[in-house]
Amino acid sequence: MAWVWIVIAVQFVLGCLEAWRPARLEWRQLAPEKWRNVGIAVVIYFGTGVVALLYDTHFTPLLTSLRTELGANLWPQRWPLITQVLLLFVLVELIWYWLHRLEHRFSAIWRVSGHGAHHSFKHLGAINFATNHPLELVWIAFPSALVGVLLGAGPAIGGAVVLATVQASIVHSNLQLNSRVIGWFFTTNQYHIRHHSQVLAESNTNYGCSTIVWDRVFGTFASGPTLETGTGPTEPSTWQKLWMPVREPVDTSIAP
Ligand SMILES: [Zn+2]
Repeated sequence: MAWVWIVIAVQFVLGCLEAWRPARLEWRQLAPEKWRNVGIAVVIYFGTGVVALLYDTHFTPLLTSLRTELGANLWPQRWPLITQVLLLFVLVELIWYWLHRLEHRFSAIWRVSGHGAHHSFKHLGAINFATNHPLELVWIAFPSALVGVLLGAGPAIGGAVVLATVQASIVHSNLQLNSRVIGWFFTTNQYHIRHHSQVLAESNTNYGCSTIVWDRVFGTFASGPTLETGTGPTEPSTWQKLWMPVREPVDTSIAP
């Protein structure tokens, strides 16, 4: 529940700032668009609960017995909590970096994850941290489930998930929040908006949604202004977004 209240508080603060001083006026989400996105986020929230239950009943026991068999209780439980959280955050992001890169590399993975739906929005805001296709929840939950259970990390994994979620809200926000110092480690919204570009070469950069260090390590980091976001010149309807795993929009310019 702490996670839910933190997300609501962060969304409220970022939403107020976006209404007060948006980075792009034309991206200001008016009531119908905002409520549509909030509706998608609520569906995604309940979908996350279903996926968490599936992982708990099928995936966690498998990984726990694997950890016990390997005797791999190596996690430094006695380290300061903040150190544990940051270490887990970086490890979870490493796995997400490669999953996300694969989504953009292979057409089949792009389709089966529904990742195109998340890229199809023309006006980004903090609420877009949760405007994903329901199918993608299985992918999004995988890194933290794998790292948390396999390493026996304990409650610190919750801190890493909270940090990643807050960061995901910030990087989608329609605000001028860029800092070269912070942006050495954390993904800034300028970097992530570039990943949402409708230009293929710009979209295939900055796969790290919360930390940018893995893009720096693996050579996919890029900075610079982004003119337009989306999968193409037009934004598909909500229904078309839902069908994107089956039928790609005809004007898509970034699908692999
Ligand atoms: Zn992406």
